Amino acid sequence: MGMGNTHKSSSWDAEDSLTAQPVAQSLDPTDWTDFREQAHAMLDDVISHIASVRENLVWQPQPQENRDAFRKSLPRAPRELDVVLGDVREKIMPYATGNLHPLFMGWVHGAGTPVGMVAEMVAAGLNMNCGGRDHVGIDVEKQIVGWMREALSYPETANGLFVTGSSMANFLAVTIAKTEKLGVGSRSEGLGAAGQKLVAYTSAEAHGCIAQAMQLSGIGSANLRQVAVDASGRMMMSHLQMMIAADRAAGLLPFLVVGTAGTVNTGAVDPLDAIADIAARENLWFHVDGAIGALAVLSDELRPKFAGIEKSQSVALDFHKWGQVPYDAGFLLVRDGAAQKRTIAQPAAYLQRADRGLAAGETWPCDLGPDLSRGFRALKTWMTIETLGTEKIGQSIAGSCANARHLAARLAAHQFFEIKAPVALNIVCFGIRGKGSDFVRELVLDLQEEGLAAPSWTTIDGQLVVRCALVNHRTTEADLDAFVDMLIRYVENKAG
Ligand SMILES: *Cc1c(COP(=O)(O)O)cnc(C)c1O
Repeated sequence: MGMGNTHKSSSWDAEDSLTAQPVAQSLDPTDWTDFREQAHAMLDDVISHIASVRENLVWQPQPQENRDAFRKSLPRAPRELDVVLGDVREKIMPYATGNLHPLFMGWVHGAGTPVGMVAEMVAAGLNMNCGGRDHVGIDVEKQIVGWMREALSYPETANGLFVTGSSMANFLAVTIAKTEKLGVGSRSEGLGAAGQKLVAYTSAEAHGCIAQAMQLSGIGSANLRQVAVDASGRMMMSHLQMMIAADRAAGLLPFLVVGTAGTVNTGAVDPLDAIADIAARENLWFHVDGAIGALAVLSDELRPKFAGIEKSQSVALDFHKWGQVPYDAGFLLVRDGAAQKRTIAQPAAYLQRADRGLAAGETWPCDLGPDLSRGFRALKTWMTIETLGTEKIGQSIAGSCANARHLAARLAAHQFFEIKAPVALNIVCFGIRGKGSDFVRELVLDLQEEGLAAPSWTTIDGQLVVRCALVNHRTTEADLDAFVDMLIRYVENKAG
């Protein structure tokens, strides 16, 4: 394709511009001084929001008129920045998720840090496209890859990249494992060409995104075996071996085993070292879903629980959970960076590389993941790790586990409560003695709606239980004591 006919002649442009009305096309503010003032005030307000989070409700439901404010038709005309910022202050900030608050314990939510917020502001200001090319954004991301290699004892040949979250990282890992088993030809020929059905293994406690990844990749979740777990929620090796043998005998093609480092229900850590051995013997790709737990290797105290993670072929992890980096900051690390590239890189004329200039660099992030245009997630991660240091982050992670033990001990000591699952890391599941699922549902929803605390729930042995995931670096033992008192009052009031 030549360039000749892609530009109109300059004489045509000149003639056209004589008759056309001048169009104000820049979207920058006309008054920078005013803009600066308003932006500074907004920054101050967000800092105050974070600094005073403990004094506010954890969460509050939106009144209908607030929801209605976000159901307007497409605005054609501009509104003044101060008016729009007024909406941000009044209609958005008070109704945020609540995960900054020390008594937010639902699901597995990171709390963010003020420095992460500043990083997001800088990243948006620079507005880099980190899909590739030769600029500092790529080097900062490579720094994080290097740090994760070091933290997880991976070799120099490992590569990785930021993705939205572990759901995406797990999906990519399934896809890479599939391509490595079937060969790169499967990228064009599809799964059918293999002539043999692929099967993967994970525990019955694995996150739902593993089954979803099997579905999205076309392999099918019916070909994901759910290996039974022991009383602590850990994958049973005898069961894994039996299933692999049965599938081989049936002519199927085992290709992948996914171990979980911190299950979403109870925080259990699969026996990663034993899985690594079986995977090596059976020639399976060993992937670790470390969404919750992988970063716990930063704690000297917790690292031994994750022994064997360094033998995996890939690890998915979330900086936005225990790493406290603001959403979103998922990450995939792959032992064999070349395998990752074989599965994903898609050469294109407009993405040709050079040995100098802006198009320099052999491997770009877009060769390692499906996103071409990507933001600068690496900056908030880099700034968080640089300003805090991994020792402090590791201590904060260990602190969450100590908090979980404290909460479990307080609950276990009171007649009202019973602990429903062993506390392996940072998740405490409990029931109310003599009360069933309906009571638990009401209790959780009442606490959330009153803005006092935000636990969530899960189902264990067919019964709904209260589930507290302690992830927040702001949570103290005193907060948890207040939470237990709150629970006691609630149960007493309901009984009385
Ligand atoms: C949160 C979580 C995921 C999904 O990660 P996202 O970042 O939410 O996409 C996967 N596995 C486990 C164990 C998780 O806790």
